[in-house]
Amino acid sequence: MVIGAAARVAIGGCRKLVSSSHTSLLLVSSQCRRQMSTDAQSVSEKLRSSGLLRTQGLIGGRWIDSYDKKTIKVNNPATGGIVADVACMGTKETNDAIASSYEAFTSWSRLTAGERSKVLRRWYDLLIAHKEELGQLITLEQGKPLKEAVGEVAYGASFIEYYAEEAKRVYGDIIPPNLSDRRLLVLKQPIGVVGAITPWNFPLAMITRKVGPALASGCTVVVKPSELTPLTALAAAELALQAGVPPGALNVVMGNAPEIGDALLTSPQVRKITFTGSTAVGKKLMAAAAPTVKKVSLELGGNAPSIVFDDADLDVAVKGTLAAKFRNSGQTCVCANRVLVQDGIYDKFAEAFSEAVQKLEVGDGFKEGTTQGPLINDAAVQKVESFVQDAVSKGAKILLGGKRHSLGMTFYEPTVIRDVSSDMIMSKEEIFGPVAPLIRFKTEEDAIRLANDTIAGLAAYIFTNSVQRSWRVFEALEYGLVGVNEGLISTEVAPFGGVKQSGLGREGSKYGMDEYLEIKYVCLGDMNRH
Ligand code: NAP
Repeated sequence: MVIGAAARVAIGGCRKLVSSSHTSLLLVSSQCRRQMSTDAQSVSEKLRSSGLLRTQGLIGGRWIDSYDKKTIKVNNPATGGIVADVACMGTKETNDAIASSYEAFTSWSRLTAGERSKVLRRWYDLLIAHKEELGQLITLEQGKPLKEAVGEVAYGASFIEYYAEEAKRVYGDIIPPNLSDRRLLVLKQPIGVVGAITPWNFPLAMITRKVGPALASGCTVVVKPSELTPLTALAAAELALQAGVPPGALNVVMGNAPEIGDALLTSPQVRKITFTGSTAVGKKLMAAAAPTVKKVSLELGGNAPSIVFDDADLDVAVKGTLAAKFRNSGQTCVCANRVLVQDGIYDKFAEAFSEAVQKLEVGDGFKEGTTQGPLINDAAVQKVESFVQDAVSKGAKILLGGKRHSLGMTFYEPTVIRDVSSDMIMSKEEIFGPVAPLIRFKTEEDAIRLANDTIAGLAAYIFTNSVQRSWRVFEALEYGLVGVNEGLISTEVAPFGGVKQSGLGREGSKYGMDEYLEIKYVCLGDMNRH
C-alpha cells in the first residue's frame, strides 16, 4: 500500500473534492468570478474556446470523466477563483490507463527510432506554437508571472525536442569476445510501461523531462500530475494527441494521489516509476516499488547553499543569488535555501542584496512587471511564517519583508534575514518561499562543512573570482549540480539530479535516456562453424 499524504482530508482521497455530478467545464460561482482578475477570467475563456482547457483524464487516447463522476476544483492561487473542475480519478481509472499503456507498448516500441522522433518533433512544434496559451495556463493554475511561465514552456518543450533527436542515438555495443567462437553484443531496449508522478511547481517541464525520454526510447507512460496543477498537463497531452502520439502511449490520470500511486506501484505491468516531488513522498514510493522490483528514479527536495566568498564579484553574486533564490517565488527544488556569506563581504552583500530584493514586484502573474507571484496555497505560506518565526525567536534579524504581503491571499513579501544559524529550521529544511537567510562563515573549510551539513544534495552555487578555489569547492561539495558564478543552470542538454536524499538518477541530457532503457547482453555461441 502507498501511504496517504498527511494533508489529504477529503472523502475519497481527493483533497479538494467538489462534486459527484458530471465533469463541468469552466467555471465558477459568482463569488469566485468576482475574485478573479479580469485578465485571468478572459484568459481562461480564451483557453476554453481554443480547446486547450481539458478537464477529463486521458486513457487509451480518449478523454474520460472519472468513473464515479467525482471532480476536483483547480484554483488560481492569485485570486482564489476556480479555474476548472477536473475529473478526480483513482484506482480503476489508473488500472485502465496501465492496461492501455501496456497494450500500446508493443506497437510503439516496435516503431523505428526515426518514426518516434518525428512524432516527438511534431509535439515540440505544437508546444512552441501554443507557447503563449500554455504559459497562460501555467500562470492561471500555478501563479508564476506570465513571462516566467512562457519561459517554462520553452524549457519544457526543449526536452521534447532534445529527445526527438536523441531517440536516434540509442547505441548498443559489440564487445571483444572472451572465446574465439563467440560474439558478444549489448542491446539497449525500452523498459516498458512507465508511471510518472509530478509536482505542481513546474506543471509542464517536470512532465516533459520524463515523458520526452520515455517516449523517445519506446516506453509508454501513465502520467499523474499534481491535483493542484493538472490543466497544463492535460493541454500538453491534447497537443501530444494532435502530434500523433498513438492511443495509450501517453495517459493522464489525476485526483486521488494515494490510490493512483498504489495502482502504479503494485502493478507488475508498470516497470518503472519516475517521481519528482518531496523527499518524504519519494521515500514512500521507493519502498512501495520494492515488492515488484521496479526501476525507480527520484527527483526530490533540496537545501541549496549559495556560497559567496570574499573574492566574489559583488554584482555577479547578488544577481546570481537573486535568480537562484527568487525564481518562482522561491518554490523550486534548486532554489538557494541558505546564502552562506564570508565574513569580509557579509555586510556589503547584505546591503546590496536587500536593495536588489526590494526591487522585486509582487503581484498577479498576469500583471505587467510582476516578478513574484503568490505561493501555491495557504499551507505553503503558513510553513514560511513558522520558519521565519523560528529564526527570529532564535536571534535572526529581518532586513526586509518577513510577513504576508498587503495584497492578501497567498502573497508573501520577498524577505531577507541576517544572522541565521545552523540550528534554525530554515537552515535544515526547504523553505519553498521567497525568504533568503544569510549565514556568516569564516573560512573556505567552514563553507564546505556548512554546505554539506544536510541530508539533501541537489544544487549548490559558488561565487568567487578564483578559478583554483572554485575547483576545490565544487569538487568537495556533495551535490548533483553546481553553479559557479551563475544562479540559473538548468538546461535540457545537461544532467539534472541529486545525491544523498535528493534523489536517484538523472533527467535531461544523454544520461536521462538511460533511465528508460534496459541493457540486454547477447552471447552468440558456436560461431566458428561453417
Ligand atoms: P509532493 O507533495 O511530494 O507531491 C508530488 C507529487 O506526488 C504530486 O503529484 C502529488 O499528488 C503526488 N503524491 C503525493 N502523495 C502521494 C502518494 N501517497 N502516492 C502517490 N503520489 C503522491 O511534492 P510537491 O509539494 O508537489 O512538490 C514540491 C516538492 O517537489 C519539493 O520538495 C521540491 O523540492 C520537489 N521538487 C524536486 C524537483 C527535482 O527535480 N529534484 C523538481 C521540482 C520539485 P497531489 O499533488 O495530487 O497530491
